[in-house]
Amino acid sequence: MDYNKLADLLYPHVDKNINKFFEKYPGRKLLNGAVVSRFAPSPTGYLHIGGLFQCVTHEMLTRKPSSVFYLRLEDTDQKREIENAGSLLYETLLKFGIEPTEGYRGNLEERGMYGPYVQSQRLDIYKVFAKYLVSRGRAYPCFCEKCEDKEEIAAKREQEIEANNTTIDHDPCRKLSYEVVEENIAMGKAFALRLLSKGNPEAVMEVDDLGRGKRKIRENGKDIVLIKNNGVPVYSFAHVVDDTLMGTTMVVRGEDWFQSVASHIELFRAFGFEEIPYLHTPNICKLDDGKKRKLSKRKDPEADSRYFLEQGYPVDAVKEYLLNLINSDFEDWRRANPTKHYREFPFAISKISTSNPMFDMVKLNDVSKDYIARLSAEDVYKQYCQWLKEYDPEYLSLVSKNSDYAFEVFNIERECEKPRKDISCWSMVKDYYNYMFADYKDINIDFATVTSIDNELLYKILHTYVVLFEESLTKDEWFDRLKKMAEKHGYCVNNKEFKANPEAYNGNLASFCNMIRYAFTGKTNTPDLYSICCVLGKEELFNRLDIIKSKLRG
Ligand code: GLU
Repeated sequence: MDYNKLADLLYPHVDKNINKFFEKYPGRKLLNGAVVSRFAPSPTGYLHIGGLFQCVTHEMLTRKPSSVFYLRLEDTDQKREIENAGSLLYETLLKFGIEPTEGYRGNLEERGMYGPYVQSQRLDIYKVFAKYLVSRGRAYPCFCEKCEDKEEIAAKREQEIEANNTTIDHDPCRKLSYEVVEENIAMGKAFALRLLSKGNPEAVMEVDDLGRGKRKIRENGKDIVLIKNNGVPVYSFAHVVDDTLMGTTMVVRGEDWFQSVASHIELFRAFGFEEIPYLHTPNICKLDDGKKRKLSKRKDPEADSRYFLEQGYPVDAVKEYLLNLINSDFEDWRRANPTKHYREFPFAISKISTSNPMFDMVKLNDVSKDYIARLSAEDVYKQYCQWLKEYDPEYLSLVSKNSDYAFEVFNIERECEKPRKDISCWSMVKDYYNYMFADYKDINIDFATVTSIDNELLYKILHTYVVLFEESLTKDEWFDRLKKMAEKHGYCVNNKEFKANPEAYNGNLASFCNMIRYAFTGKTNTPDLYSICCVLGKEELFNRLDIIKSKLRG
């Protein structure tokens, strides 16, 4: 068969040569150690937490000067495409503080010299490369009617290519003579383009995976579809062409792609292109009924990265949690380096976990609590207000009414040796600190939950407390006064004595403090009561006392 003739027959209007593109997109000038990697999502929905996990990996891999992290939109599967999903993906990335240096930018003009970065805008380029492959005798047209169905399967992550499949799967169209092809074309029949595989699926090849080292896989023996009969390429073809032209130095993608890597390598070789090293990253899983499974878009709210934005997890806390999943020594490093930025972490490909990590909300909450505990009051204020702006603007006006006061609130048991670790996300703050910001009148108080003493005594105690409270007191002085007050009102300040004879007292010191805490905050568990009262101030305590008075009467 004269392959050049076949190529002209299939692509009569393509007169460009692939070298044109290598001239247009010259090799990148990179400094030593620089990496060019890309995130290549398909616009089929929101940014999956697994996608964010990959972007954190990209971010860490491309820290060296002159490195590039670019975004390419892989929108060749129109049936699965969801409107605006591309720009949504990009905007979500930005919200997580990840801004690709190059590539697709949603509704903004793309950035970079290697575009277009949207695959549906590259169809003419693909045609030139398709023609080239035909001219090398490594691709042929397939007119099978069932082609469309088969292509769909190919597009869905090429599930048909199983690593252990040892059958040679050549399409009958491989044997068509030039004359038959010519006839078909003359009849106007559409064709898909298939790889002419020369692989032997009984042979095992070694793939150098940057993360896992040498891995064995069977050679590809299938004539996979490369271009569908509507002219749109499938993933394998577009990946090889685009990553080559765009100068990718490392293909970082999910482990589930590993099963089709043999066909991708065959394709690189069929083109005669230099193979680009792969780094297959583990897939995030979760335990469901004791079984490990991939996070599912349908079943798990945490699969949607926007969930964490809505809940108000600080984005860096989420990224730190994901870093923990990628390099498990991150946690130790963080403990030893509490003030450093996560980008300073000595991330290493060799430390990437080889098993699929488990997504664990409890752990994320812990990481986030630690993260928030490390923030200054001012940073808490800033980040919280930023979150409120989008998710609760009404409450924002309350919190930001007096920023000095808000700083003081957020500084309670913060910026100290052992800061409190109660808050894991901003949506918790409203309930946690509502008594510091909301109108006290609106706070639900039911004294029966904390004491059974009569209202008269209760009011007397609270009144004495406020009268004797002075912001100028040290915490020890305040506590001494509190103890004396408790004793005077029939509370036992010695726990042993109290335990021996509880009937003789109204309660112990803890219940006395709790009653006061509850009276002024509506909560039985709060940060340090002394600090709360200092921040509220004596005047506000009196205000609250007045309201308590009317509540007790009512
Ligand atoms: N478009 C593919 C996906 O969304 C990208 C895989 C890759 O990064 O190469 O899974």
